[in-house]
Amino acid sequence: MIEQPRMVKICDIWDESPSVKTFFFKFDLHFDPGQFVMVWIPLLDEKPFTISYIRNDLMGVSVLKRGMFTNALHNKKIGDMIGIRGPYGKGFGLQTNPDFCVVGGGIGMASLATVVDRLNDATIIQGARTASEILYQKRFKDMNLCTDDGTTGFKGTTVDLFRKLLTRRRFQKVYACGPEKMLYKVVELCRNHGIECEVSLDRYIKCGFGVCGQCDCSGQRVCVDGPVFNIKELSKMKDFGKVTILKTGARVVY
Ligand SMILES: Cc1cc2nc3c(=O)[nH]c(=O)nc-3n(C[C@H](O)[C@H](O)[C@H](O)COP(=O)(O)OP(=O)(O)OC[C@H]3O[C@@H](n4cnc5c(N)ncnc54)[C@H](O)[C@@H]3O)c2cc1C
Repeated sequence: MIEQPRMVKICDIWDESPSVKTFFFKFDLHFDPGQFVMVWIPLLDEKPFTISYIRNDLMGVSVLKRGMFTNALHNKKIGDMIGIRGPYGKGFGLQTNPDFCVVGGGIGMASLATVVDRLNDATIIQGARTASEILYQKRFKDMNLCTDDGTTGFKGTTVDLFRKLLTRRRFQKVYACGPEKMLYKVVELCRNHGIECEVSLDRYIKCGFGVCGQCDCSGQRVCVDGPVFNIKELSKMKDFGKVTILKTGARVVY
C-alpha cells in the first residue's frame, strides 16, 4: 500500500458512456476487487475511486462526471499527471466455485467489474437510467440489463430484475454495489432467500485510512472496515440504508 500520493501519468483514457471515462495509469501494487484508491488532483482535492480494470501493468478507474472533482478529472488528457495512494479498504471475498450473481446499479458496476474478471460465469445484472449509460458492454457479454426508461433490457430497477431472476434461478452468493437504497433491498432479498451477500458501500470518505470518522456507518469505518461488508455485518449496522453522514458531518435520514 502507498500511504503518500504517488504521481502517475495517465497512459490511456476510454469513453465508457457519455458521462463515464476510464483513466489508466501504471501502478504495480497488489489489490483485491472492491478496494479503492484515493485520486489526488493537486490544489483541488482527493477522492475515492474503485479500481475497475487491471490491464497488464495498468490499473484503471472508471469515473462518473458529477461535480467539481470528477469534472476536473474528465478534463485530463493522456500524459497528464494525477496522484494515487492506496489501495485501501477490504475488498470482496471471492470464492472459487459458487453460482454467483453481481448486481450493479449505475457507477456501482465499476466496483464489480474486477469481480467479474476474476470469477468465471458470473450472472451479471446491470441497471442504469438509460441505454447510453450502460457500462462495459463490449467487456462483458450476456449481461441482464435494466433501465429506468426501458430503452434497453428490462424496464425497471436492478432490484425488480434481481427479484424476477430469483423466481427461476438459485444463487449461492451475490456481490452488489450501487445506491444504498438499492443495496438495502438486495440484502433483504438475499436474506429472505438464504443467499450469502456482500455489498460495497459508497459513503463520504475523507482520509481513506480510518482516522477522521467521516465515513462511519454504525461504528464501522467504511474506508478500513469496508467498503465491502457481508450480510452478517450489515445486520448489525443500523444506519445501513437509513442514515448517512454528509461532508459537513451532519447525519441525515435517506
Ligand atoms: C469506496 C468508494 C469507491 C468509489 N468508487 C467510485 C468509482 O469507481 N467511480 C466513481 O465515479 N465514483 C466512485 N465513488 C464516488 C466518488 O468518490 C464521488 O463521485 C466523487 O468523489 C465525486 O466528487 P465531485 O467533486 O465530482 O462531486 P461532488 O459534487 O462533491 O459530489 C457528488 C456526489 O459524490 C459524492 N461524493 C463527493 N465526495 C465524495 C467522497 N469524498 N467520498 C464519497 N463520495 C463522495 C457526494 O456525496 C455526492 O453524492 C466512490 C466512493 C466510494 C466511497
